[in-house]
Amino acid sequence: MDLGIRGKTALVCAASKGLGKGCATALASDGVNLVITARGKEALEATAEEIRKATGVKVAAVAGDITTPEGRASALKAAGAVDILVNNAGGPPPGDFRNWSREDWVKALEANMLTPIELIKAVIDGMIERKFGRIVNITSGAVKMPIPELGLSNGARTGLHGFVAGLSRQVAQHNVTINNLLPGPFDTDRLRSNFAFNANKLGKKPEELARTRAEQNPTKRFGTIDEFGAACAFLASVHAGYITGQSLLMDGGAYPGTF
Ligand code: NAP
Repeated sequence: MDLGIRGKTALVCAASKGLGKGCATALASDGVNLVITARGKEALEATAEEIRKATGVKVAAVAGDITTPEGRASALKAAGAVDILVNNAGGPPPGDFRNWSREDWVKALEANMLTPIELIKAVIDGMIERKFGRIVNITSGAVKMPIPELGLSNGARTGLHGFVAGLSRQVAQHNVTINNLLPGPFDTDRLRSNFAFNANKLGKKPEELARTRAEQNPTKRFGTIDEFGAACAFLASVHAGYITGQSLLMDGGAYPGTF
C-alpha cells in the first residue's frame, strides 16, 4: 500500500534505538524525510546513516535531550515545517512509590507528558495551516493495564492520554490527527533492563524471566520494532485521516479484555 506521505517531513524523537528507530525506519521506507533525535550522538549518527543507505531519504540527526527546552528547540529548528511528529522519550525507572521524591515525579511528567505536549504545541498550528498533520505518541500498555513497578510511567502517561483525548477532537477538522501507540512487550534495550530489575528482585536470571514472560504472551514472543514501526507509519499515512484520539494497544493480545 502506498501510504501517500512521500516527501513529507517527520520529526521522530528518541529514535537511535528501539521503538523510535522502528517508526523512523518505517516512515523512511515510505519516502518520508526525517529528523531523528537521541542523547547519544554515536548511535544516533549510525542509525541515521543506516536509514539513509536503506531508503535514500534525507535524515538529519540532532543529538540532545528531548525532555529539555534546548533539546526540543534544536530538533524543531532542524525539522522546519513538521508534517508528522512521533513523540517518544525514555521511560521512567521502575521502583516503589514510597521511595520517589517530588523531583522524580516532575522528571517523569517532563519526559512522558509535558515534552510531548510542548512539541505538539510547537507544530500543530503549522499542520492546521497546511491541512495535514499526523501526531503519534509512543506511550505504553501500562496506560491500559498498569505495571506495578512502573508507577511513574502509569501516572505520567495517563495524563498525556487525557490531554490528547480533548485536543484531537479540536483539530480533526483540519486533517490533523493525534493518536497513541501503546506498546506491550517489545524486544528492545528498555524491555531487557526491566527484566534485569525484576529478575534481581525474584532471584532469577534475566534471560530466564524473559523466556517465561514471552511464553505468557498469547503470541509466545515479544513484538519487533518493525511491527511497531509499520503501525506508526499507517497512522501517519493519508489513509488514517478518520482515525483520531485513539489508543492502539500493541501487546500480542496480552490485555485480556473484550475491548
Ligand atoms: P530503548 O530501546 O531503550 O530506546 C530508547 C531510545 O530513546 C534510544 O534511542 C535513546 O537514546 C532515546 N532516548 C531516551 N531518552 C531520551 C531523551 N531524554 N532524549 C532523547 N532521546 C532519548 O527504549 P524502547 O523500548 O524503544 O522504549 C521507548 C519508549 O516506549 C519508552 O518510553 C519506554 O518506556 C516505552 N515502552 C517500551 C516498551 C517495550 O517493551 N520496549 C513497553 C512499554 C513502553 P539515548 O539513550 O542515546 O538518548
